[in-house]
Amino acid sequence: MPLIQAPRGTFDVLPADAARRAVLQSHAERVLGGAGYRRIETPAFEATELFARGVGEATDIVQHEMYTFDDGGGRSLTLRPEGTAPVCRAYLEHGMHKLPQPVKLWYLSPFFRAEAPQRGRYRQFWQVGAEAIGSPSAETDAELIVLLSELLATLGVRETRLRLSSLGTPRTRLEYREELTAYLRAHRDQLSPEVAARIELNPMRAFDATDATTRRTMEGAPTLLGRLAPEDAQHFVAVRELLDGAGVKYELDPRLVRGLDYYTRTVFEFTSDALGAQSGVGGGGRYDGLLELLGGDPTPASGWAAGIERMLIAAGELPVAPELVDLFVALGSRDGAREAFELALDARRAGLSAQLELAGRSLRGQLRHADRLGARYVAIVADQVALRNMESGEQHELELAAVIPTILRGSRLA
Ligand code: ATP
Ligand code: MG
Repeated sequence: MPLIQAPRGTFDVLPADAARRAVLQSHAERVLGGAGYRRIETPAFEATELFARGVGEATDIVQHEMYTFDDGGGRSLTLRPEGTAPVCRAYLEHGMHKLPQPVKLWYLSPFFRAEAPQRGRYRQFWQVGAEAIGSPSAETDAELIVLLSELLATLGVRETRLRLSSLGTPRTRLEYREELTAYLRAHRDQLSPEVAARIELNPMRAFDATDATTRRTMEGAPTLLGRLAPEDAQHFVAVRELLDGAGVKYELDPRLVRGLDYYTRTVFEFTSDALGAQSGVGGGGRYDGLLELLGGDPTPASGWAAGIERMLIAAGELPVAPELVDLFVALGSRDGAREAFELALDARRAGLSAQLELAGRSLRGQLRHADRLGARYVAIVADQVALRNMESGEQHELELAAVIPTILRGSRLA
């Protein structure tokens, strides 16, 4: 029969990779926990409506990338493609506005998007994310950026760059879009045909053009950053001063956009040049309009999400602590089977890591296996018990009851 394989765009996390992920998780716990962020887990699927509203009908995610299904009772559910909308839903559902604000939450969870698989782009992938709900302050935005920057640094993610911008308010953006469209129309004959054809559809695209004529024209184009309302401009200056003070380097990128109406003010993205085409490591920003859109009171909030797989690719080697085996319990004869089984249990209860022979190997095979595992001691259980120190090769007979105390004494001396 043909073997069944994991679905396209998914992958198994095998033990060696699981160990690297555990290292990443413990760094996230330390960095985010140290700033008062607390872990949250939401369901792997949600009402489709949550993402339609909370990610935005017009986005690539909602248009093309969602795994949506009927739950059998006529309700439409979707495997979560991202974490911000679910966390905001949970904030509202559990009345977290009554808690001291902001409520600071982080997650490390799998997400699902129907995308064309390639290196760094999967259909099931993991993100670590942080959200601070209930604070409008520039400090919140700057702190979130610093936290992601520190997480990337502790992981040794290479060649990172931070791009930063401010989107102002939806209203400023609408006015700006009109101004930019008017500018492009007025300079239509100094634009490439492709850009000229897309003026009304997506005027921002003109900034990404590579041909010399269009680029020259765009140098004189108005930028959104240049049109911010005074209080938004002030907020942005405050964020930048905090980042400067913290020594976090960034490039201003007026073209950094998050296409959604509920995004406000700060936006940012970390990329890594070590990644190639899929260079985005993580990003986020302020989303003061989202909670209201989900039926809550107007609530300022900001956050970010970063892809685990891309972080691990860009991090290269991560020092993973070797797995310890204090004791391997070998069988000298079948008669010792019960004592051997119980010795392994007792050793674990005493705080040692202990493994038991489970494959019916010969005594020689068991010793070779214990060596491969890196066991510090092997107890050979038969009528008598012998304890072998695998480092020194020393071996002596002793009472069954003396095995664990002897190892513990050895551990303490070591
Ligand atoms: P991209 O431009 O690469 O599609 P995105 O803008 O869709 O990224 P976000 O929605 O901001 O990404 O998600 C944050 C992070 O999650 C990304 O920077 C990336 O590291 C990771 N990510 C997003 N989609 C995928 C995916 N399909 N596979 C693996 N990681 C992903
Ligand atoms: Mg994407």
